[in-house]
Amino acid sequence: MFKSNFSRREFIKFNTLAGLGTVLTASITAPLFAKGVKNAATPAILGGQPAWDKIKWPTWPVWNPETDEKRVLEVLRSGVWSRAAVVTEFEKEWANALGAKRSLAVSNGTNALIVALNQLNIRGGDEVLVPPYTFIATVQAVLANGAMPVFVDIDPHTYQMDPAKIEAKITPRTKAILPVHILGLPADMDRIMAIAKKHNLVVIEDACQAHLAEVNGKKVGTIGHAGCFSFQNSKNLPIGEAGAIVSNDDAFMDRCFSYQNLGLPYGSAVGAIGTGSIMQGTKVRLTEYQAAIGLAQLKRLDAQTTTRNENAAFLKSQIKVIPGIVPYKLYDNVTRAAFHLFAFRYKKEKFKGLSREEFLNAIRAEGIPCSSGYTTLNTQPFLKETFQSKNYQKIYSKEMLDYNKYMERNRCPENDKLCNEEAVWFTQNLLLGNKSDMMAIASAIEKVHKNADKIVKQAKK
Ligand SMILES: *Cc1c(COP(=O)(O)O)cnc(C)c1O
Repeated sequence: MFKSNFSRREFIKFNTLAGLGTVLTASITAPLFAKGVKNAATPAILGGQPAWDKIKWPTWPVWNPETDEKRVLEVLRSGVWSRAAVVTEFEKEWANALGAKRSLAVSNGTNALIVALNQLNIRGGDEVLVPPYTFIATVQAVLANGAMPVFVDIDPHTYQMDPAKIEAKITPRTKAILPVHILGLPADMDRIMAIAKKHNLVVIEDACQAHLAEVNGKKVGTIGHAGCFSFQNSKNLPIGEAGAIVSNDDAFMDRCFSYQNLGLPYGSAVGAIGTGSIMQGTKVRLTEYQAAIGLAQLKRLDAQTTTRNENAAFLKSQIKVIPGIVPYKLYDNVTRAAFHLFAFRYKKEKFKGLSREEFLNAIRAEGIPCSSGYTTLNTQPFLKETFQSKNYQKIYSKEMLDYNKYMERNRCPENDKLCNEEAVWFTQNLLLGNKSDMMAIASAIEKVHKNADKIVKQAKK
């Protein structure tokens, strides 16, 4: 799969020589570059040659008109655009890809979570255990059902909800655990399921970033009672906006179908009298052309996932030797990750005190897009706002809605440190590059590390 097979040392040497204008031919065939006079050993932010000046990284989403458009055009020309056979076909394919009994496609991942929580009867007064290191939708879905999010701090090595911290957060009101396989790295489902069983809690997996990731050879999203996926444009299976619930529980899935379709009867979810709507519902159905796009994307998902796993492992091996770079860790029971994001901790003490923001700027100057990722979720204003709402005031005691007390109960120092000080992210499309792309990332970080004192000095000017 990789186009080049030279070592990173050779890569840096070649890069350096090319930067000095030396002509190097012989055995190296990678599409490298020669920029004339700039010194490749000098960080780009100090005027040196960028580690990577390829025109662009693999773009996202991937779309091949020849293979992908026929089905979409058929749907558009048919005039059948509302939910029908193509959505059903996509649901079957998605369930098959995961080894799940059933799948229900809905308008997005947020609504997959809202519908699943609703049909597991998570309502006002219930508490749902969530990790703080996640996309806002995880928590919004809990609030949308009138329930109370309770934050369980992360494992500092894996960034996932820390199983060791779950039991301390369980109260008589706790109804569910909502682990998120954040960054596409699986949460420790063995321990989470054991705790859920012991305390009689339902488990809903937020697998919105973890398409085809596995624990003990089983796909995430199929381990808990229900799994929720997102097919938003940035996700590893992109449709634009779309989502799905998966489960092996037929009665639950029938009720989810009914709920996402105005409460109209479906399967075993039927009323005692007549044919009208059987429950309160909403309407978050997927469309036929979205499903046609999903079917096209599904064809490449497995191969892309393999590429991301290979590149992530290689990149990790290259950068973990750089002082101050501490890459993600996977639990021993993980058999495949999805790598929606590639993350590591940046320790500025090993970079002469260079701040994370300055580090990111230096890496960006090398031609490598990166970010600091999430800000702390459990401190954002939406929670306070929700606690002041009419519904919450009616359902919960004053004590429970005391914002300062809530914040104290929900402190997550490990997450604060990761978000505010140390996390660095590369998005999944970078992992669809080749080995020399990964070496470019590693050499950029190494270059910045070697010259950290000079970058600190310049930043201070
Ligand atoms: C994207 C995402 C969601 C929500 O999915 P949408 O399709 O964007 O609504 C929920 N949870 C996590 C962890 C996500 O990354």
